[in-house]
Amino acid sequence: MKEYKKLYINGKWVPSHGTDTVDIVNPSTEEVFATVVLGDEEDVNLAVKAARQSFPSWSATSVEDRVILLTKISEALTARQTEIGDTIAMEMGMPAPWSGMIQAGLPIATFASFSTILANYSFETSMGSTQIVKEPIGVCGFITPWNYPLHQIVGKVAPALAAGCTMVLKPSQLAPLNAFILAEILHEVGVPPGVFNLVSGAGSKVGQAISTHPDIDMVSITGSTQSGIRVAQAGAETVKRTTLELGGKSANILLEDTDFPTAVAKGVSDCLLNSGQTCSALTRMIVPAARQEEVIAIAKTTAESLIVGGAFDAGVYIGPLVDKDQQDSVRGYIHKGIEEGATLVTGGPEQPANLAKGYFVKPTIFADVKPDMTIAREEIFGPVLCIIPYRNEEEAIEIANDSLYGLSGAVWSGDIERAKKVAKQMKTGQVFINGAGFDINAPFGGYKQSGNGRERSKYGLEEFLEIKAIMGHND
Ligand code: NAD
Repeated sequence: MKEYKKLYINGKWVPSHGTDTVDIVNPSTEEVFATVVLGDEEDVNLAVKAARQSFPSWSATSVEDRVILLTKISEALTARQTEIGDTIAMEMGMPAPWSGMIQAGLPIATFASFSTILANYSFETSMGSTQIVKEPIGVCGFITPWNYPLHQIVGKVAPALAAGCTMVLKPSQLAPLNAFILAEILHEVGVPPGVFNLVSGAGSKVGQAISTHPDIDMVSITGSTQSGIRVAQAGAETVKRTTLELGGKSANILLEDTDFPTAVAKGVSDCLLNSGQTCSALTRMIVPAARQEEVIAIAKTTAESLIVGGAFDAGVYIGPLVDKDQQDSVRGYIHKGIEEGATLVTGGPEQPANLAKGYFVKPTIFADVKPDMTIAREEIFGPVLCIIPYRNEEEAIEIANDSLYGLSGAVWSGDIERAKKVAKQMKTGQVFINGAGFDINAPFGGYKQSGNGRERSKYGLEEFLEIKAIMGHND
Protein backbone atom coordinates (compact mmCIF):
# COMPACT_ATOMS: atom_id res chain seq x y z
CA MET A 1 0.00 0.00 0.00
CA LYS A 2 1.44 3.32 -1.04
CA GLU A 3 0.95 6.27 1.31
CA TYR A 4 0.96 9.84 0.01
CA LYS A 5 1.55 11.94 3.11
CA LYS A 6 2.99 15.12 1.66
CA LEU A 7 1.80 18.03 -0.42
CA TYR A 8 3.85 19.87 -3.03
CA ILE A 9 4.16 23.51 -1.96
CA ASN A 10 6.79 26.07 -2.96
CA GLY A 11 8.92 23.49 -4.77
CA LYS A 12 9.09 21.04 -1.82
CA TRP A 13 7.22 17.99 -0.57
CA VAL A 14 5.93 19.13 2.82
CA PRO A 15 3.74 17.53 5.51
CA SER A 16 0.08 18.51 5.37
CA HIS A 17 -1.61 20.42 8.19
CA GLY A 18 -4.59 18.15 7.65
CA THR A 19 -4.49 14.83 9.49
CA ASP A 20 -7.27 12.96 7.69
CA THR A 21 -6.51 10.63 4.81
CA VAL A 22 -8.61 9.19 2.02
CA ASP A 23 -8.41 5.58 0.82
CA ILE A 24 -7.87 5.18 -2.90
CA VAL A 25 -9.90 2.18 -4.02
CA ASN A 26 -9.37 0.14 -7.17
CA PRO A 27 -12.95 0.02 -8.53
CA SER A 28 -12.26 -3.19 -10.47
CA THR A 29 -11.51 -5.11 -7.24
CA GLU A 30 -12.94 -2.87 -4.47
CA GLU A 31 -9.51 -3.05 -2.77
CA VAL A 32 -7.73 -0.10 -1.18
CA PHE A 33 -4.29 0.29 -2.75
CA ALA A 34 -3.16 3.74 -1.56
CA THR A 35 -3.95 6.44 0.94
CA VAL A 36 -3.66 10.16 0.37
CA VAL A 37 -3.51 12.93 2.94
CA LEU A 38 -6.31 15.49 2.88
CA GLY A 39 -5.00 19.04 3.14
CA ASP A 40 -6.77 21.93 4.79
CA GLU A 41 -7.20 25.70 4.63
CA GLU A 42 -3.78 26.35 6.16
CA ASP A 43 -2.15 24.32 3.37
CA VAL A 44 -4.07 26.35 0.79
CA ASN A 45 -2.87 29.58 2.44
CA LEU A 46 0.74 28.46 2.22
CA ALA A 47 0.32 27.33 -1.38
CA VAL A 48 -1.30 30.64 -2.39
CA LYS A 49 1.47 32.58 -0.63
CA ALA A 50 4.09 30.63 -2.58
CA ALA A 51 2.19 31.14 -5.84
CA ARG A 52 1.87 34.88 -5.15
CA GLN A 53 5.57 35.23 -4.36
CA SER A 54 6.66 33.40 -7.48
CA PHE A 55 4.29 35.30 -9.80
CA PRO A 56 6.48 38.38 -10.54
CA SER A 57 9.47 36.34 -11.66
CA TRP A 58 7.50 33.60 -13.45
CA SER A 59 5.33 36.08 -15.37
CA ALA A 60 8.50 37.87 -16.48
CA THR A 61 10.11 34.74 -18.02
CA SER A 62 10.50 34.80 -21.78
CA VAL A 63 8.07 33.09 -24.11
CA GLU A 64 11.01 31.10 -25.50
CA ASP A 65 11.86 29.71 -22.06
CA ARG A 66 8.28 28.73 -21.37
CA VAL A 67 7.95 27.09 -24.81
CA ILE A 68 11.01 24.96 -24.02
CA LEU A 69 9.63 24.04 -20.61
CA LEU A 70 6.23 22.99 -21.99
CA THR A 71 7.97 20.75 -24.53
CA LYS A 72 10.08 19.21 -21.79
CA ILE A 73 6.99 18.47 -19.71
CA SER A 74 5.37 16.76 -22.70
CA GLU A 75 8.49 14.63 -23.14
CA ALA A 76 8.69 13.76 -19.44
CA LEU A 77 5.04 12.69 -19.50
CA THR A 78 5.78 10.52 -22.54
CA ALA A 79 8.58 8.79 -20.64
CA ARG A 80 6.07 7.83 -17.93
CA GLN A 81 3.06 7.22 -20.19
CA THR A 82 2.51 3.57 -19.26
CA GLU A 83 2.90 4.25 -15.53
CA ILE A 84 0.42 7.14 -15.74
CA GLY A 85 -2.06 5.10 -17.78
CA ASP A 86 -1.87 2.20 -15.31
CA THR A 87 -2.16 4.50 -12.29
CA ILE A 88 -5.35 6.07 -13.65
CA ALA A 89 -6.69 2.61 -14.59
CA MET A 90 -6.18 1.62 -10.93
CA GLU A 91 -7.73 4.83 -9.57
CA MET A 92 -10.84 5.13 -11.68
CA GLY A 93 -11.18 1.92 -13.68
CA MET A 94 -10.68 2.80 -17.34
CA PRO A 95 -9.26 -0.31 -19.07
CA ALA A 96 -5.46 0.03 -19.00
CA PRO A 97 -4.74 0.07 -22.77
CA TRP A 98 -7.37 2.80 -23.26
CA SER A 99 -6.13 4.64 -20.20
CA GLY A 100 -2.56 4.67 -21.52
CA MET A 101 -3.72 5.97 -24.87
CA ILE A 102 -6.30 8.51 -23.69
CA GLN A 103 -5.77 9.34 -20.02
CA ALA A 104 -1.98 9.55 -20.37
CA GLY A 105 -1.84 10.35 -24.08
CA LEU A 106 -4.03 13.47 -24.10
CA PRO A 107 -1.93 15.34 -21.49
CA ILE A 108 1.19 14.69 -23.58
CA ALA A 109 -0.54 16.11 -26.65
CA THR A 110 -1.92 19.06 -24.67
CA PHE A 111 1.47 20.23 -23.40
CA ALA A 112 2.89 19.88 -26.92
CA SER A 113 -0.07 21.80 -28.31
CA PHE A 114 0.36 24.71 -25.86
CA SER A 115 4.05 24.84 -26.62
CA THR A 116 3.15 25.56 -30.28
CA ILE A 117 0.29 27.92 -29.44
CA LEU A 118 2.55 29.92 -27.12
CA ALA A 119 5.36 30.12 -29.67
CA ASN A 120 2.96 31.70 -32.17
CA TYR A 121 0.89 33.91 -29.87
CA SER A 122 1.02 37.73 -30.04
CA PHE A 123 0.91 39.18 -26.54
CA GLU A 124 1.13 42.73 -27.92
CA THR A 125 -0.95 44.16 -30.76
CA SER A 126 -2.20 47.58 -31.85
CA MET A 127 -5.71 48.95 -32.32
CA GLY A 128 -5.25 52.30 -34.01
CA SER A 129 -3.17 54.43 -31.66
CA THR A 130 -3.84 52.14 -28.71
CA GLN A 131 -1.52 49.33 -27.78
CA ILE A 132 -3.16 46.13 -26.53
CA VAL A 133 -1.07 44.12 -24.09
CA LYS A 134 -2.14 40.69 -22.85
CA GLU A 135 -0.80 39.90 -19.38
CA PRO A 136 -1.10 36.78 -17.21
CA ILE A 137 -4.01 37.12 -14.80
CA GLY A 138 -2.03 36.08 -11.70
CA VAL A 139 -2.55 33.27 -9.18
CA CYS A 140 -5.00 30.58 -10.30
CA GLY A 141 -6.87 27.94 -8.31
CA PHE A 142 -7.77 24.68 -10.06
CA ILE A 143 -10.39 22.16 -8.94
CA THR A 144 -10.70 19.00 -11.00
CA PRO A 145 -12.74 15.77 -11.34
CA TRP A 146 -11.87 12.06 -11.54
CA ASN A 147 -13.20 10.94 -14.93
CA TYR A 148 -10.30 12.10 -17.12
CA PRO A 149 -8.29 13.29 -14.14
CA LEU A 150 -4.95 14.26 -15.67
CA HIS A 151 -6.50 15.46 -18.93
CA GLN A 152 -8.68 17.88 -16.94
CA ILE A 153 -5.75 19.04 -14.80
CA VAL A 154 -3.50 19.60 -17.79
CA GLY A 155 -6.27 21.48 -19.64
CA LYS A 156 -5.70 24.15 -16.98
CA VAL A 157 -2.05 23.75 -15.92
CA ALA A 158 -0.59 23.83 -19.47
CA PRO A 159 -2.23 27.11 -20.61
CA ALA A 160 -1.65 28.68 -17.18
CA LEU A 161 2.08 27.91 -17.35
CA ALA A 162 2.11 29.12 -20.96
CA ALA A 163 0.46 32.40 -20.00
CA GLY A 164 2.88 33.03 -17.12
CA CYS A 165 0.42 32.35 -14.27
CA THR A 166 1.15 30.56 -11.01
CA MET A 167 -1.25 28.07 -9.49
CA VAL A 168 -2.67 25.84 -6.77
CA LEU A 169 -4.25 22.55 -7.81
CA LYS A 170 -6.78 20.50 -5.88
CA PRO A 171 -7.36 17.23 -7.72
CA SER A 172 -10.36 14.94 -7.18
CA GLN A 173 -10.09 12.99 -3.95
CA LEU A 174 -11.19 9.85 -5.85
CA ALA A 175 -8.32 9.90 -8.37
CA PRO A 176 -5.49 12.14 -7.11
CA LEU A 177 -2.43 9.94 -7.71
CA ASN A 178 -1.85 11.12 -11.27
CA ALA A 179 -1.56 14.69 -9.91
CA PHE A 180 1.30 13.57 -7.67
CA ILE A 181 3.09 12.17 -10.73
CA LEU A 182 2.55 15.46 -12.55
CA ALA A 183 4.02 17.39 -9.58
CA GLU A 184 7.10 15.13 -9.68
CA ILE A 185 7.50 15.80 -13.40
CA LEU A 186 7.09 19.57 -13.08
CA HIS A 187 9.70 19.52 -10.32
CA GLU A 188 12.15 17.44 -12.36
CA VAL A 189 11.93 19.58 -15.49
CA GLY A 190 12.63 22.72 -13.47
CA VAL A 191 9.33 24.56 -12.99
CA PRO A 192 10.46 27.11 -10.37
CA PRO A 193 9.30 26.77 -6.73
CA GLY A 194 5.87 28.24 -6.06
CA VAL A 195 4.72 28.26 -9.70
CA PHE A 196 2.80 24.99 -9.33
CA ASN A 197 1.47 23.81 -5.96
CA LEU A 198 -0.51 20.67 -5.18
CA VAL A 199 -2.93 20.49 -2.25
CA SER A 200 -5.01 17.30 -2.21
CA GLY A 201 -8.21 17.37 -0.21
CA ALA A 202 -11.97 17.54 -0.09
CA GLY A 203 -14.05 19.95 -2.15
CA SER A 204 -15.79 21.19 0.99
CA LYS A 205 -12.46 22.17 2.60
CA VAL A 206 -9.62 22.66 0.12
CA GLY A 207 -11.94 23.44 -2.82
CA GLN A 208 -13.87 25.91 -0.69
CA ALA A 209 -10.65 27.53 0.58
CA ILE A 210 -9.44 27.97 -3.00
CA SER A 211 -12.69 29.41 -4.30
CA THR A 212 -12.94 31.97 -1.49
CA HIS A 213 -9.25 32.89 -1.16
CA PRO A 214 -8.81 36.67 -1.53
CA ASP A 215 -5.36 36.30 -3.09
CA ILE A 216 -6.45 33.99 -5.90
CA ASP A 217 -7.31 35.90 -9.09
CA MET A 218 -8.96 33.16 -11.07
CA VAL A 219 -10.60 29.84 -10.31
CA SER A 220 -11.20 27.15 -12.87
CA ILE A 221 -13.27 24.10 -11.99
CA THR A 222 -14.16 21.05 -14.01
CA GLY A 223 -16.92 19.09 -12.34
CA SER A 224 -20.66 18.81 -11.95
CA THR A 225 -22.88 21.81 -12.61
CA GLN A 226 -23.85 21.80 -8.92
CA SER A 227 -20.20 22.17 -7.78
CA GLY A 228 -19.53 24.75 -10.48
CA ILE A 229 -22.39 26.92 -9.24
CA ARG A 230 -21.03 26.77 -5.67
CA VAL A 231 -17.51 27.68 -6.79
CA ALA A 232 -18.82 30.56 -8.92
CA GLN A 233 -20.90 31.86 -6.00
CA ALA A 234 -17.95 31.64 -3.61
CA GLY A 235 -15.60 33.29 -6.10
CA ALA A 236 -18.02 36.16 -6.70
CA GLU A 237 -17.30 37.55 -3.21
CA THR A 238 -13.82 38.55 -4.37
CA VAL A 239 -14.78 39.08 -8.04
CA LYS A 240 -12.60 36.27 -9.31
CA ARG A 241 -12.58 35.30 -12.92
CA THR A 242 -14.26 31.91 -12.88
CA THR A 243 -14.20 29.40 -15.68
CA LEU A 244 -16.53 26.45 -15.43
CA GLU A 245 -16.31 23.14 -17.32
CA LEU A 246 -19.42 21.31 -16.18
CA GLY A 247 -21.86 18.55 -17.02
CA GLY A 248 -23.50 17.52 -20.25
CA LYS A 249 -26.31 15.57 -21.88
CA SER A 250 -25.17 15.67 -25.46
CA ALA A 251 -27.27 14.81 -28.48
CA ASN A 252 -26.30 12.73 -31.50
CA ILE A 253 -28.74 13.47 -34.35
CA LEU A 254 -28.98 10.83 -37.07
CA LEU A 255 -30.67 12.28 -40.16
CA GLU A 256 -32.54 9.73 -42.29
CA ASP A 257 -30.00 9.93 -45.16
CA THR A 258 -27.08 8.68 -43.10
CA ASP A 259 -25.25 5.37 -43.10
CA PHE A 260 -27.02 3.80 -40.10
CA PRO A 261 -24.75 0.79 -39.42
CA THR A 262 -21.70 3.10 -39.14
CA ALA A 263 -23.41 5.93 -37.27
CA VAL A 264 -25.19 3.74 -34.72
CA ALA A 265 -22.19 1.50 -34.00
CA LYS A 266 -19.89 4.47 -33.48
CA GLY A 267 -22.52 6.34 -31.46
CA VAL A 268 -22.92 3.39 -29.11
CA SER A 269 -19.22 2.66 -28.60
CA ASP A 270 -18.33 6.35 -28.13
CA CYS A 271 -21.11 6.80 -25.59
CA LEU A 272 -19.96 3.75 -23.63
CA LEU A 273 -16.25 4.69 -23.63
CA ASN A 274 -14.93 5.13 -20.08
CA SER A 275 -18.17 3.42 -18.93
CA GLY A 276 -20.08 6.50 -20.02
CA GLN A 277 -18.20 8.69 -17.55
CA THR A 278 -17.41 11.37 -20.10
CA CYS A 279 -18.79 14.89 -19.75
CA SER A 280 -19.17 15.26 -23.52
CA ALA A 281 -20.58 11.73 -24.10
CA LEU A 282 -23.28 11.61 -26.76
CA THR A 283 -25.87 10.05 -24.47
CA ARG A 284 -28.99 10.96 -26.45
CA MET A 285 -29.19 9.29 -29.86
CA ILE A 286 -31.93 11.12 -31.74
CA VAL A 287 -33.22 8.96 -34.61
CA PRO A 288 -36.00 9.02 -37.22
CA ALA A 289 -39.03 7.30 -35.66
CA ALA A 290 -39.50 5.20 -38.81
CA ARG A 291 -35.93 3.83 -38.48
CA GLN A 292 -35.95 3.18 -34.71
CA GLU A 293 -36.25 -0.62 -35.03
CA GLU A 294 -33.20 -0.74 -37.33
CA VAL A 295 -31.26 1.48 -34.90
CA ILE A 296 -32.23 -0.71 -31.94
CA ALA A 297 -30.95 -3.86 -33.68
CA ILE A 298 -27.55 -2.32 -34.47
CA ALA A 299 -27.23 -0.69 -31.04
CA LYS A 300 -28.05 -3.95 -29.25
CA THR A 301 -25.52 -5.95 -31.26
CA THR A 302 -22.83 -3.31 -30.72
CA ALA A 303 -23.39 -2.97 -26.97
CA GLU A 304 -23.51 -6.73 -26.44
CA SER A 305 -20.23 -7.20 -28.33
CA LEU A 306 -18.29 -4.95 -25.92
CA ILE A 307 -16.47 -6.79 -23.15
CA VAL A 308 -17.11 -5.67 -19.58
CA GLY A 309 -14.41 -6.42 -17.00
CA GLY A 310 -11.61 -5.26 -14.75
CA ALA A 311 -9.27 -2.52 -15.92
CA PHE A 312 -6.40 -4.99 -16.30
CA ASP A 313 -8.35 -7.87 -17.89
CA ALA A 314 -7.66 -8.64 -21.54
CA GLY A 315 -9.89 -7.22 -24.27
CA VAL A 316 -12.04 -5.14 -21.93
CA TYR A 317 -13.76 -2.05 -23.34
CA ILE A 318 -16.07 -1.26 -20.42
CA GLY A 319 -14.48 -1.12 -16.97
CA PRO A 320 -16.19 -0.47 -13.64
CA LEU A 321 -17.64 2.86 -12.55
CA VAL A 322 -15.44 4.92 -10.28
CA ASP A 323 -17.05 3.99 -6.96
CA LYS A 324 -20.05 2.53 -5.18
CA ASP A 325 -21.92 5.85 -5.06
CA GLN A 326 -21.61 6.24 -8.81
CA GLN A 327 -22.69 2.63 -9.36
CA ASP A 328 -25.75 3.12 -7.13
CA SER A 329 -26.63 6.40 -8.79
CA VAL A 330 -26.45 4.94 -12.32
CA ARG A 331 -28.48 1.89 -11.31
CA GLY A 332 -31.04 4.29 -9.83
CA TYR A 333 -31.36 5.98 -13.22
CA ILE A 334 -31.80 2.61 -14.95
CA HIS A 335 -34.66 1.77 -12.56
CA LYS A 336 -36.14 5.20 -13.23
CA GLY A 337 -36.00 4.66 -17.01
CA ILE A 338 -37.87 1.37 -16.67
CA GLU A 339 -40.44 2.96 -14.30
CA GLU A 340 -41.02 5.88 -16.65
CA GLY A 341 -41.84 3.51 -19.51
CA ALA A 342 -38.75 3.53 -21.73
CA THR A 343 -38.01 0.24 -23.53
CA LEU A 344 -34.99 -1.58 -22.09
CA VAL A 345 -33.12 -2.89 -25.15
CA THR A 346 -30.14 -4.39 -23.37
CA GLY A 347 -28.38 -4.17 -19.99
CA GLY A 348 -30.22 -3.34 -16.79
CA PRO A 349 -29.54 -2.54 -13.15
CA GLU A 350 -28.17 -5.94 -12.06
CA GLN A 351 -24.49 -6.72 -11.43
CA PRO A 352 -23.04 -8.50 -14.51
CA ALA A 353 -23.26 -12.25 -13.78
CA ASN A 354 -19.56 -12.97 -14.34
CA LEU A 355 -18.29 -10.13 -12.13
CA ALA A 356 -19.05 -10.66 -8.45
CA LYS A 357 -16.82 -7.79 -7.29
CA GLY A 358 -16.21 -4.34 -8.69
CA TYR A 359 -18.46 -1.37 -9.33
CA PHE A 360 -19.74 -2.61 -12.68
CA VAL A 361 -22.88 -1.58 -14.52
CA LYS A 362 -24.02 -3.44 -17.62
CA PRO A 363 -23.94 -1.39 -20.81
CA THR A 364 -27.57 -0.34 -21.03
CA ILE A 365 -29.63 0.95 -23.91
CA PHE A 366 -33.09 2.42 -23.71
CA ALA A 367 -35.34 3.06 -26.72
CA ASP A 368 -38.69 4.88 -27.06
CA VAL A 369 -37.26 7.49 -24.71
CA LYS A 370 -39.37 10.65 -24.52
CA PRO A 371 -37.61 14.01 -24.16
CA ASP A 372 -39.33 14.69 -20.83
CA MET A 373 -38.19 11.47 -19.13
CA THR A 374 -35.63 11.82 -16.34
CA ILE A 375 -33.13 9.65 -18.23
CA ALA A 376 -33.36 12.04 -21.20
CA ARG A 377 -32.85 15.15 -19.08
CA GLU A 378 -30.32 14.40 -16.33
CA GLU A 379 -26.65 13.57 -16.68
CA ILE A 380 -26.43 9.85 -15.75
CA PHE A 381 -22.63 9.53 -16.03
CA GLY A 382 -22.67 5.81 -16.63
CA PRO A 383 -22.90 3.33 -19.55
CA VAL A 384 -26.46 4.25 -20.49
CA LEU A 385 -27.63 5.37 -23.92
CA CYS A 386 -31.09 6.82 -24.65
CA ILE A 387 -32.56 6.39 -28.13
CA ILE A 388 -35.10 9.14 -28.75
CA PRO A 389 -37.31 9.01 -31.87
CA TYR A 390 -38.21 12.15 -33.87
CA ARG A 391 -40.67 12.87 -36.70
CA ASN A 392 -38.84 15.52 -38.74
CA GLU A 393 -35.56 17.45 -38.83
CA GLU A 394 -37.01 20.45 -37.04
CA GLU A 395 -38.17 18.28 -34.17
CA ALA A 396 -34.77 16.54 -34.00
CA ILE A 397 -33.04 19.90 -33.51
CA GLU A 398 -35.67 20.99 -31.00
CA ILE A 399 -35.15 17.81 -28.93
CA ALA A 400 -31.36 18.20 -29.11
CA ASN A 401 -31.56 21.77 -27.81
CA ASP A 402 -34.19 21.01 -25.17
CA SER A 403 -31.60 20.61 -22.40
CA LEU A 404 -30.13 22.61 -19.54
CA TYR A 405 -26.77 21.55 -20.90
CA GLY A 406 -24.88 22.48 -24.07
CA LEU A 407 -21.49 20.83 -24.05
CA SER A 408 -21.19 18.68 -27.14
CA GLY A 409 -23.27 17.30 -29.98
CA ALA A 410 -23.13 15.40 -33.22
CA VAL A 411 -24.96 15.13 -36.49
CA TRP A 412 -24.83 12.46 -39.18
CA SER A 413 -26.06 12.88 -42.75
CA GLY A 414 -25.20 11.69 -46.26
CA ASP A 415 -25.30 15.37 -47.27
CA ILE A 416 -22.50 17.34 -45.65
CA GLU A 417 -24.14 20.73 -46.34
CA ARG A 418 -27.31 19.56 -44.60
CA ALA A 419 -25.25 18.31 -41.65
CA LYS A 420 -23.47 21.68 -41.39
CA LYS A 421 -26.80 23.53 -41.32
CA VAL A 422 -27.99 21.35 -38.46
CA ALA A 423 -24.65 21.71 -36.63
CA LYS A 424 -25.03 25.49 -36.68
CA GLN A 425 -28.43 25.23 -35.03
CA MET A 426 -27.19 23.11 -32.12
CA LYS A 427 -26.66 25.13 -28.92
CA THR A 428 -23.44 23.45 -27.85
CA GLY A 429 -19.72 24.25 -27.63
CA GLN A 430 -18.69 21.47 -30.02
CA VAL A 431 -20.43 19.54 -32.80
CA PHE A 432 -19.04 16.46 -34.55
CA ILE A 433 -20.15 15.79 -38.13
CA ASN A 434 -20.28 12.19 -39.40
CA GLY A 435 -18.10 10.77 -36.63
CA ALA A 436 -15.23 13.28 -36.85
CA GLY A 437 -12.51 12.56 -34.30
CA PHE A 438 -11.79 14.55 -31.12
CA ASP A 439 -9.48 17.47 -31.92
CA ILE A 440 -7.16 18.31 -29.02
CA ASN A 441 -6.44 21.69 -30.65
CA ALA A 442 -10.09 22.76 -30.86
CA PRO A 443 -11.69 24.96 -28.19
CA PHE A 444 -13.71 22.93 -25.69
CA GLY A 445 -16.42 24.23 -23.38
CA GLY A 446 -20.10 24.59 -22.79
CA TYR A 447 -23.12 26.68 -23.65
CA LYS A 448 -25.85 27.11 -21.02
CA GLN A 449 -25.31 25.17 -17.75
CA SER A 450 -22.40 23.20 -19.20
CA GLY A 451 -20.18 26.09 -18.22
CA ASN A 452 -18.40 29.31 -19.00
CA GLY A 453 -15.12 29.72 -20.82
CA ARG A 454 -13.09 27.53 -23.12
CA GLU A 455 -10.17 25.18 -22.67
CA ARG A 456 -7.55 24.22 -25.31
CA SER A 457 -6.54 26.23 -28.39
CA LYS A 458 -5.61 29.93 -28.24
CA TYR A 459 -9.01 30.58 -26.64
CA GLY A 460 -7.97 28.35 -23.75
CA LEU A 461 -4.75 30.35 -23.38
CA GLU A 462 -6.66 33.64 -23.42
CA GLU A 463 -8.74 32.59 -20.38
CA PHE A 464 -5.53 33.14 -18.39
CA LEU A 465 -4.80 36.61 -19.76
CA GLU A 466 -5.89 40.10 -18.75
CA ILE A 467 -6.21 42.69 -21.51
CA LYS A 468 -4.57 46.07 -21.00
CA ALA A 469 -5.11 49.02 -23.36
CA ILE A 470 -2.25 51.54 -23.39
CA MET A 471 -3.29 54.80 -24.99
CA GLY A 472 -0.83 57.28 -26.38
CA HIS A 473 2.04 54.80 -26.36
CA ASN A 474 3.42 56.09 -29.65
CA ASP A 475 2.73 59.80 -29.11
P1 NAD B 1 -17.77 16.97 -8.68
O1 NAD B 1 -18.51 18.21 -9.01
O2 NAD B 1 -18.31 16.09 -7.62
O3 NAD B 1 -16.28 17.33 -8.22
C1 NAD B 1 -15.40 18.05 -9.05
C2 NAD B 1 -14.36 18.73 -8.17
O4 NAD B 1 -14.99 19.76 -7.43
C3 NAD B 1 -13.73 17.79 -7.13
O5 NAD B 1 -12.36 18.10 -7.01
C4 NAD B 1 -14.48 18.15 -5.86
O6 NAD B 1 -13.75 17.88 -4.70
C5 NAD B 1 -14.68 19.63 -6.05
N1 NAD B 1 -15.80 20.22 -5.31
C6 NAD B 1 -17.00 19.68 -5.06
N2 NAD B 1 -17.78 20.56 -4.37
C7 NAD B 1 -17.03 21.69 -4.19
C8 NAD B 1 -17.28 22.94 -3.56
N3 NAD B 1 -18.42 23.23 -2.98
N4 NAD B 1 -16.28 23.86 -3.60
C9 NAD B 1 -15.12 23.61 -4.21
N5 NAD B 1 -14.83 22.43 -4.80
C10 NAD B 1 -15.78 21.48 -4.80
O7 NAD B 1 -17.58 16.21 -10.04
P2 NAD B 1 -16.94 14.78 -10.27
O8 NAD B 1 -17.92 13.76 -9.78
O9 NAD B 1 -15.55 14.74 -9.77
O10 NAD B 1 -16.87 14.74 -11.88
C11 NAD B 1 -17.94 14.43 -12.67
C12 NAD B 1 -18.62 15.69 -13.19
O11 NAD B 1 -17.67 16.49 -13.87
C13 NAD B 1 -19.70 15.39 -14.20
O12 NAD B 1 -20.80 16.23 -13.99
C14 NAD B 1 -19.04 15.73 -15.54
O13 NAD B 1 -19.91 16.06 -16.58
C15 NAD B 1 -18.18 16.88 -15.14
N6 NAD B 1 -17.09 17.04 -16.10
C16 NAD B 1 -17.09 18.11 -16.95
C17 NAD B 1 -16.08 18.26 -17.90
C18 NAD B 1 -16.03 19.41 -18.85
O14 NAD B 1 -14.98 19.66 -19.40
N7 NAD B 1 -17.11 20.15 -19.07
C19 NAD B 1 -15.07 17.30 -17.95
C20 NAD B 1 -15.09 16.23 -17.07
C21 NAD B 1 -16.10 16.12 -16.13
